[in-house]
Amino acid sequence: MSTKYVYMFSEGNGSMKELLGGKGANLAEMTNLGLPIPQGFTVSTEACTLYNTSGKVLSDEIKAQVDKAIVKLEEISGKKFGDNANPLLVSVRSGSRASMPGMMDTVLNLGLNDEAVEGLANATGNPRFAYDSFRRFIMMFADVVIGVSKKKFDKVLDEYKESKGYGSDLDLNVDDLKHICEEFKKIYRDDQGKDFPADAKIQLYEAIGAVFRSWDNERAFSYRRMNDIPYDWGTAVNVQSMVFGNMGDDSGTGVVFSRNAATGVDEIYGEYMINAQGEDVVAGVRTPKPFAQLKEEMPAIYDEFVNYAKKLERHYKDMQDMEITIEKGKLYFLQTRNGKRTATAALKIAVDMVDEGLITSEEALLKVEPRQLDQLLHPTFDTKALKEANPIGKALPASPGAATGKVYFNAEDVKEASERGEACILVRLETSPEDIEGMARSKGVLTVRGGMTSHAAVVARGMGTCCVSGCEEIKMNEEEKYFDLGGHRIKEGDYISLDGSTGNIYLGEIKTVDPEISGNFAKFMEWADKVRDLKVRTNADTPKDASKAIEFGAEGIGLTRTEHMFFDEERIIKFRAMILSDSVSEREKALEELIPYQISDFKGLYEAMEGRPVTIRLLDPPLHEFIPHTEAEYEAVSKQNGKPVAELKAKAAALHEINPMMGHRGCRLSVTFPEITRMQIVAIIKAAIEINKEKGYNIVPEIMIPLVGEIKEFRFVKEIVDSTAAEVIKEAGVDLQYMVGTMIEIPRACLTADAIAKEAEFFSFGTNDLTQLTYGLSRDDAGKILNDYIGKNIYEADPTARLDRTGVGQLMQMAVEKGKSTKENIKLGICGEHGGDPSSVEFCHMLGLNYVSCSPYRVPIARLAAAQAALKFPR
Ligand code: ADP
Ligand code: MG
Ligand code: MG
Repeated sequence: MSTKYVYMFSEGNGSMKELLGGKGANLAEMTNLGLPIPQGFTVSTEACTLYNTSGKVLSDEIKAQVDKAIVKLEEISGKKFGDNANPLLVSVRSGSRASMPGMMDTVLNLGLNDEAVEGLANATGNPRFAYDSFRRFIMMFADVVIGVSKKKFDKVLDEYKESKGYGSDLDLNVDDLKHICEEFKKIYRDDQGKDFPADAKIQLYEAIGAVFRSWDNERAFSYRRMNDIPYDWGTAVNVQSMVFGNMGDDSGTGVVFSRNAATGVDEIYGEYMINAQGEDVVAGVRTPKPFAQLKEEMPAIYDEFVNYAKKLERHYKDMQDMEITIEKGKLYFLQTRNGKRTATAALKIAVDMVDEGLITSEEALLKVEPRQLDQLLHPTFDTKALKEANPIGKALPASPGAATGKVYFNAEDVKEASERGEACILVRLETSPEDIEGMARSKGVLTVRGGMTSHAAVVARGMGTCCVSGCEEIKMNEEEKYFDLGGHRIKEGDYISLDGSTGNIYLGEIKTVDPEISGNFAKFMEWADKVRDLKVRTNADTPKDASKAIEFGAEGIGLTRTEHMFFDEERIIKFRAMILSDSVSEREKALEELIPYQISDFKGLYEAMEGRPVTIRLLDPPLHEFIPHTEAEYEAVSKQNGKPVAELKAKAAALHEINPMMGHRGCRLSVTFPEITRMQIVAIIKAAIEINKEKGYNIVPEIMIPLVGEIKEFRFVKEIVDSTAAEVIKEAGVDLQYMVGTMIEIPRACLTADAIAKEAEFFSFGTNDLTQLTYGLSRDDAGKILNDYIGKNIYEADPTARLDRTGVGQLMQMAVEKGKSTKENIKLGICGEHGGDPSSVEFCHMLGLNYVSCSPYRVPIARLAAAQAALKFPR
């Protein structure tokens, strides 16, 4: 039997997302629920894969199935495809498994040609509408399917409107529209060297192919990469009978959420536009009306809508984002999906739905994207600074947050500026999918047009980027890169600030303050803590970071990078004097000067952690990194240790390494310079003894030896640790427990983990180095290479950000198994950057680790990711 590629809406259901895509599956589900859905069919994601892997042609098999489905659709609608009297018009809509707003292009009114448009005019008695639909179709088809620049059409339309003195597209009459259709066809002919295709079937096949190809376009790639969506999922195509929102004042179109997507409040939230087609609202062509106004304008439709919206919400047990069209006073649903929302809204909706008894707290935990919490962990404006700020305008609060930065007028410029390290605000007339990367790199986005559901708003909310939209007072000059607002001229590079929660726009920079966890957020995180198995620690080098992490729920420190303690100006001179010493005794003398700093650093950390466990890593980086650079720096060291600069330079030259990341670093430093390790151990132990005495804690320092690949080198360093610790403890005349463990970050450590576990009391996976060494790919040079590898579909994700389960993960699993075979209860953790990445946290849960450790701002993300992992994969 041949494969079934085409499904009528009535043949599918909501669980068939993989095959039908999200939009198609939900259209089928809504059809089954009895909602008013214009009928149609879905061409499956399997057809997309087939298309893209077989020379980008639509197979005869697929075409035949499409033809059959069209016949069924003709029966349902009583209209005929390609007919000149009463033509069936369809939309061709993409829809992948995960919703990708604005990524894939939709073609509306397909099936029109010179005769059919007359047929439509006669059948509806509304020639204005018929030609309005036709001009839209010509442009969309040319733009989306063929790739003729949309600008050419916009230009003709804008110039025509201007010549007639029209303010809006609603002013165009039948003759105007007829004229524009002719002009549009001419643009097509000039560009393509042939006529606009008249055959409806050809239009349809071409459009389906174009949707499949759009899965392959650059902006789809960049969206998938940002959202971890695999390429091989493919997109489905939905072919659906048209309903028309552009038939007059009793028609319209809207985009509506069942709850407020910005705040989470249980209220209908959205926008609509009278006498318009769907994409007009989303694209921000005119500024739409708030949905609540429909209650006055069309009360019956409003009530009917609310009923269905609540029904859908109960059915899907989640807030819904719906697209509707009203055709001559009749309501149709065109789409529903779980709505994108801000993190604040996500938490409020989750907590409310539990209170309403709609879902359990465990179901609620699975409804919030861990990564999204990031939005709540970022600064807001300092209230006092905000009072003194200079507001120059106000628009829609489209995506919350506080942003301060320099103004840029296109995504390209933002990209360059952000690479220079500047904070940027992207200012656009309206955003389009091409702007996505620029938006991601901006602190905030400001648009002149568009409402709360415009492209800019939806995408910004998804990314957690602050966005203020629809500021129509702005007089924009994109070409010369400035805009006027509130009596000020703001040029490229000038500072402005945006408040995404109020919609206020300010001149200049405004101070921001740090966030805190309270209310719904706190309640939600408590639920997460109840179900997770993994502990969550933090990577922190200062008491300030450590305290922040505790506020965010950290249960200990998983990594202290002691080298970061020497960057301070005064200390670095002493540190340099130490590494540029000539003899052990000279170095020991220099180390003496560093001990007091280290003791107070460690005490500060222990104190900030209030007795929670603290893992301290011995000095790790190549000494190469600390070599003085300038003449002045050499002189400072010379003053410190009394050696001539020339001698210091010779010594520094000897420390130079060709490949320092794989050179003299980690435990290798302890092997060469045991005295450095002794100094650090004295400080770690003394600090613990003192703080335990002062505060009554029972700190058990966890001393971590980096870069071990051989049991004998571990043993060598451990011997230094033990003998030094014993002396300090004896001298203090008290009792102190401590642990000695190792980082697992060299493939050889994984391979020999059973031996290492004989001596090591804990393993902590250093997946930054482990990934670098497993791939043989330098962390510091990977950026450019990875861009190509991901862009060319060789790697699915950046392995330095998302743990590679197949390769690196296998080594980790080996280390876990081998380690446990020697020491059943060996403590296992991870302290690489992956410790705060949700997918990696899930993998660590599956491996049976005891804890993950990540930077303070990612602690809540890790807590939720750990909870979700525990719910999905019970141990
Ligand atoms: P996106 O995924 O970008 O939202 P859609 O496929 O949902 O794209 O289509 C864009 C807009 O076109 C929708 O807002 C919808 O209102 C309108 N639309 C799509 N199909 C139809 C149809 N059959 N009849 C009327 N309007 C439609
Ligand atoms: Mg849509
Ligand atoms: Mg390392």
